[in-house]
Amino acid sequence: MTSDAILVLNAGSSSIKFELFDIVGGDAETRFEGQMEGIGASPHLIARDATRHVLADHRWAGPDVANHGAALEVIAKELSPAMAGRRIIAVGHRVVHGGPDLVAPVLIDDAVMAQLEALAPLAPLHQPHNLAGIAASRARLPGVPQVACFDTSFHRSHAWEADTFALPPEFYARGIRRYGFHGLSYEYIAANLAEAEPALAAGRVVVAHLGNGSSLCAMRGGRSVDSTMGFTALDGVPMGTRCGQIDPGVLLHLLMTEGMEPAALQKLLYGNAGLKGMSGISQDVRDLEASAEPRAAQALAYYAWRVRREIGALAAALGGLDGLVFTAGIGENARDLRARICEGLGFLGIDIDPARNQANEREISRPGAATRVLVRATDEEGMIARHVLNLLRRSKWA
Ligand code: ADP
Repeated sequence: MTSDAILVLNAGSSSIKFELFDIVGGDAETRFEGQMEGIGASPHLIARDATRHVLADHRWAGPDVANHGAALEVIAKELSPAMAGRRIIAVGHRVVHGGPDLVAPVLIDDAVMAQLEALAPLAPLHQPHNLAGIAASRARLPGVPQVACFDTSFHRSHAWEADTFALPPEFYARGIRRYGFHGLSYEYIAANLAEAEPALAAGRVVVAHLGNGSSLCAMRGGRSVDSTMGFTALDGVPMGTRCGQIDPGVLLHLLMTEGMEPAALQKLLYGNAGLKGMSGISQDVRDLEASAEPRAAQALAYYAWRVRREIGALAAALGGLDGLVFTAGIGENARDLRARICEGLGFLGIDIDPARNQANEREISRPGAATRVLVRATDEEGMIARHVLNLLRRSKWA
């Protein structure tokens, strides 16, 4: 007997992350996940089941897995024992950019592909790779519904003031807007809060998605009101390797006065700034916390400072704060950094209980604190699987 499954793919420039969900009782339950890294260079596949047991761990020579299509083929072959008895009924894709109009997941056909390709200039470092993954998946699984889920959709509820830059209106009309990203993570947290903490979910909440990529989102009643990321995923707080907010005059200076090449500037802002660039040591908070170098401490101090500033700004956007939720790699694990971020935020009713914080409890504010502070795991792939299921139901495929 075969059972139905949903595959979720997240294709990057040289990687494909994947997660397989079984459909159980109308819900999507994770079965295994993994990633193929180093496509075209030094391909490495690793996959684990839901208990973290390793299902596959293989390396190839670059030419053997030269592109996304070859990667999917190899993944399917290596994981065929785990796929026995399962039938993929739909594939969900993480797509960074849905532009101004795609406010919900969509079933992909040729017209949607063309629409997504037209958005590639808005996210040149991500969108083309997301689309390469979709093209490879459509070629490999013809006839299987493919669904695109966007990191921008959740933020389309923003008012115009939060959506625009202070430029003449024709720039806005041309799509130069504050889109916001990490939307699938925020949507997951909003749904999770609505189930587990309905009173809080109905109120004013700032969610801090702090991972290699970091941003924060202000929500009222589970809807995004504002976010720290803007036109690209560079804006807002500093990140592992990205700069976060920077005076645009600095960029003009580097380009026009110092004669920096645009490609070198792009590399600096995306790959050589943030925690890695400031410390000169690592983009990983764990490495910086373990280091005795003053530059490591400075990078962490800057990170905490900027996140704290943004919490204040987003609380102002919401007209007050009922809850703060930490999520993603740093938010879920970096206890000391969480405590430092919250220092001085007593005026917003934030009061961390050190013991609860160190124990990584799900609620780390002191009992009775005016603003609740929670720690929650995010699950962007799970959110995509849920979207796919909903869309299939509406389209009567499932
Ligand atoms: P991505 O944005 O790539 O999905 P993650 O959300 O997985 O990233 O976050 C990865 C980051 O989380 C690491 O680079 C590291 O800085 C941080 N991190 C993970 N575990 C810990 C920990 N135990 N203590 C401090 N920081 C951690």
